Parts: sequence; structure tokens; C-alpha cells
Amino acid sequence: MSDDSDFRCPVCRARQPLRETCRRCEADLHLVVRAHRRLVYLKSQLAQTHANGEKERERQIITELRWLVPSYGQANVNTPPPSAAISAGAGRGLRGWW
Ligand SMILES: [Zn+2]
Repeated sequence: MSDDSDFRCPVCRARQPLRETCRRCEADLHLVVRAHRRLVYLKSQLAQTHANGEKERERQIITELRWLVPSYGQANVNTPPPSAAISAGAGRGLRGWW
């Protein structure tokens, strides 16, 4: 995934490190920060559950990832992407979101 310096404020588009208040327009970004933290956590859990072969948990994580990033996996919400695509493209569908 891209690092935090690629983040742009969704209000004024100022590029900045991810933080709870925009440096330029002072928009409250705490929900964006929470969503980002959850996304990072889910991606780490997805890799772990995939490695452990926990298919049901993997499917639950993918569903939640798609709630956070609808383009995740670029497929129907009810159809998880192939496992190989999960590992190879875990961050690909998220690029540009930050
Ligand atoms: Zn801003």
C-alpha cells in the first residue's frame, strides 16, 4: 500500500501525511484515519488467514474490505476474488484511495 504521504484531504485535496485534521482546511479527518487503520489491519489479517487456509474468515475479511473500498478485488461483492489475486493485488485495488 502507498505510504501516508500519498494521502490527500478529501475536502481540499492537499497532499499530506494522514492525520486527524487537515493541515490546510482543518477538516476533521478522524473517520478517515479510523477507516485507514481498519484497512491496514484487515489487509494484515487477510494475508494471515490466507496463509492459514481459513477460507470462511478470509471471505468475511474480503466482504469488510469491500465495504471500505468498493473497488477492492474488482468483482461482485458476493464473489470473492481468486486467492492468488488476494495476495498479489491486496493493495492494487486500494491505490489512489490514499
Ligand atoms: Zn483539507
